[in-house]
Amino acid sequence: MDLRVIEKPDHGLFVQNLIRNYRVEGVKRRGRTFFYGLIRSPEELCLDFDCTIIPPKKYFSPPKETLLQFTTAPSLEVAAVMEEAPFIIFGVHPYDLKAIQQMDRIFSRGVPDPHYLKRRESALLIGVDPTGVAPRSFWVDMEADTAPGCFDLMFTDIGEGFIIEIGSRKGEDLLAQYGKTRKATIAEQQQRTNIRSRIAQSCKEKGLDFPKRQIPGLMERSDESLIWEEKASKCLSCGTCIMVCPTCFCFDVWDEVELDLLHGERLRRWDGCLLQDFAKVASGENFRESKTSRYRHRFFKKGLYLFKVLDDIACVGCGRCSTGCLADIADPVDVLNSLNGDVNA
Ligand code: SF4
Ligand code: SF4
Repeated sequence: MDLRVIEKPDHGLFVQNLIRNYRVEGVKRRGRTFFYGLIRSPEELCLDFDCTIIPPKKYFSPPKETLLQFTTAPSLEVAAVMEEAPFIIFGVHPYDLKAIQQMDRIFSRGVPDPHYLKRRESALLIGVDPTGVAPRSFWVDMEADTAPGCFDLMFTDIGEGFIIEIGSRKGEDLLAQYGKTRKATIAEQQQRTNIRSRIAQSCKEKGLDFPKRQIPGLMERSDESLIWEEKASKCLSCGTCIMVCPTCFCFDVWDEVELDLLHGERLRRWDGCLLQDFAKVASGENFRESKTSRYRHRFFKKGLYLFKVLDDIACVGCGRCSTGCLADIADPVDVLNSLNGDVNA
């Protein structure tokens, strides 16, 4: 594996060069919170964070977007709206890289989604290893502490500089063109291993009582558990847990036509199974009317239905759902451990 090192002063220059040549999106700090936004100077870029409020999925599947525009006269014309300009996301943690990899598979299967895939093709992903663990994160238990094959470049802070792992030809070219690097020494490589183990160890301090591979079986045996109703009774149906989740991808699509009936657009926006009307159809029937059925569905989808598609659990352990839930009932660790105790009692 070719590992390079960039010293901290040269890193600032590297970021500056990228900003001059690309749209660079990255993590910014506001008080004690972190969020992804446009980076205008190297000083704005924060690589020392535990978890952002919203994951970087918003760059590939935006909260709201126009899919196509149409005119009805003199003849019907329809034009797809596609974004193609290359851009960089700088500072993506391994669990979010793994989530993006899952989204790539979801949006590529069946009829591939050209809007999502065009943005993915246009993006360069620069990962960074976490320097701290958010209070509700459990990404080690979800085997998302590293993300081989999911990045173009991967940075690890080793104090005086960053170790960089090259993950693709695009990443290699970017580094060669804009960065001043040298080969990592054996001692520096060992330092990276030690840093990763230390962070992973602190993430393991709270987590699942059982291995991740048992989650699908647990879902199959827990359909009748009273825990679903007990938790769901406190649910506000606000949808926060699904909106902040890097592996949730459901959306709604609708048309808006101007008053002249000559022009219009087709739009889509995030939607999700915890919202009251998500499973409501045109006749007025709601297939998941009760809070319990909606609440349980979220776990079944991630732990069982998508497992059959992805051969992986659709949760990377970021803990955002748990942090964002006002009723404090969305924590997968708490729910899965409680279910495990309940079905094995
Ligand atoms: S379910 Fe929660 S912990 Fe799992 S990936 Fe989604 S937001 Fe993160
Ligand atoms: S964030 Fe909490 S209260 Fe809101 S929908 Fe999700 S589980 Fe329910």
